[in-house]
Amino acid sequence: MYIKKDNIVISTVRSNKSKYEYYIPSKHLVTRWFNILNEEIFNNEVHPFKNISITRKSDCHAWHQGCYNGDYIFGELSLNDTFENKTYFLYTLAHEMIHQWQWMKYNKTDHGQTFMKWKNKLEKFEIPLGVSI
Ligand SMILES: [Zn+2]
Repeated sequence: MYIKKDNIVISTVRSNKSKYEYYIPSKHLVTRWFNILNEEIFNNEVHPFKNISITRKSDCHAWHQGCYNGDYIFGELSLNDTFENKTYFLYTLAHEMIHQWQWMKYNKTDHGQTFMKWKNKLEKFEIPLGVSI
């Protein structure tokens, strides 16, 4: 697998990593970066979130909620309204996208084997995969 040095994910992660410039996500920005990460990293295997909410959080950066509605299954994303920079926003979104992928594929989310399966791929894009977000 080859990745161009000027890949949009890598260049964005690098150029914002040490910035102290708050990043305020909007649903539009989340959707834009969801599409980019899905294309670049996840082979477009991640189903879109049914709902994205952006609210102030004090104890975490984001959470993923797996849901059922009758015969249907879907996932929702809730994101903090402020990130310390754009790079941390991307780390967080990538983490939650793995939970969405797990939920839609296996109907469960955790930080086990199916989560860590993405670790090497994310490292190629300079995104560390941690269990807390
Ligand atoms: Zn998690």
